Amino acid sequence: MQPVIPINKSTQGCSNSPVLSEKGQREVFCGLTGIIWLHRKIQDAFFLVVGSRTCAHLVQSAAGVMIFAEPRFGTAIIDERDLAGLSDANDELDRVVSELLARRPDIKLLFLVGSCPSEVIKLDLSRAAERLSRTYVQRARVLNYSGSGIETTFTQGEDACLASLLPTLPQRQSPNRQLLIVGTLADVVEDQLGALLHKMGIDDFDFFPPRRSSKLPAVGANSVYLLAQPFLSDTARGLDALGLQRLDAPFPLGEEGTTAWLQAAATAFGVDAARFAEVTAAPRQRAQATLARHRAKLAGKKVFFFPDSQLEIPLARFLHRELDMDLVEVGTPYLHRQLMAAELALLPEGTRLSEGQSLELQLDRCHADQPDLVVCGLGLANPLEAQGFTTKWSIELVFTPIQGYEQAGDLAALFSRPLLRKQKIAA
Ligand code: SF4
Repeated sequence: MQPVIPINKSTQGCSNSPVLSEKGQREVFCGLTGIIWLHRKIQDAFFLVVGSRTCAHLVQSAAGVMIFAEPRFGTAIIDERDLAGLSDANDELDRVVSELLARRPDIKLLFLVGSCPSEVIKLDLSRAAERLSRTYVQRARVLNYSGSGIETTFTQGEDACLASLLPTLPQRQSPNRQLLIVGTLADVVEDQLGALLHKMGIDDFDFFPPRRSSKLPAVGANSVYLLAQPFLSDTARGLDALGLQRLDAPFPLGEEGTTAWLQAAATAFGVDAARFAEVTAAPRQRAQATLARHRAKLAGKKVFFFPDSQLEIPLARFLHRELDMDLVEVGTPYLHRQLMAAELALLPEGTRLSEGQSLELQLDRCHADQPDLVVCGLGLANPLEAQGFTTKWSIELVFTPIQGYEQAGDLAALFSRPLLRKQKIAA
């Protein structure tokens, strides 16, 4: 059987590398953005942003495709009277929730999502959620978390949302070992990964968050968990506190990452090496074949990551190890060394890692490096394109199904397509 992590490349990598830590102006979306993929995942949940018209515009324009459907997100607007302390925002919130739940019997889980304005007026949403949970005890569960730009970046909204769900997870009584897969994945990805686990003989597993709030997984002393997304440090801390053991693994991006991720589950559940190799052989080969086509276009190209989604380190590992790209800088908003340990070990030694952001300094480095491809947020992409750089919007990497073997080619295409477009324009 082939080793899961090829040994011809360093396995110490960047484990002990210094990190350029920066604090300054940053260019990222706030945590409200997470509602866009969370509302599609938990299909009986509603996300009520308690915020301003700016917050409403952000969520509505980011999820513009929903205009023709009855959406599962909305905004309770905090106006000037609330900000000036002239009215009781709690009364207004109670009214909005009462109307919403009366009109929408399909809502079984309601998230009150905090924003910058609700934090400015110090509206206590945890007390509001408790009060409303009591009022609607038979009707819907009410929870709260913050998506405020003061506290969170872009993907941390999901982390805060999942962490708020942890106290509601039922207690598991079964003596059997159970695997919890943590982090929002597209349904198609869940189905593929689930099918592989079943083939290995691992049948006791659950995805968190679930597709419906009534299907929250029970967890207990025999539960172990695997993160499917790298930006879930608060959720991981909460699961640790509940006594669950985290399986250390790279994230399931690319052929190598998916194999190593599945291997962590297989090892924990005692799946023998022959069975693991048999189950993964065909999808691994398919992924390798499709990646070879993209490698021809991407090998030797320089890529620069601005910090945005916290997916940067796993993506950089994938681009370097499976597509032979050169990493000039890998920026991440936060570096959680424990959660990233398996990934850091696979990055090439000497990679420039940066945490946080000081925008002007980072732009200077980008100009000096002259990368072939820049991965960055929407706000930076247009100005950089205007200066002749080729860019990839990092937000697309969160909205698109990219995990697992069958998506490895689609993931590579997200990086090769902008370069191809640039070539065609230049030709
Ligand atoms: Fe803007 Fe803050 Fe509202 Fe996000 S939460 S849209 S950063 S005001």
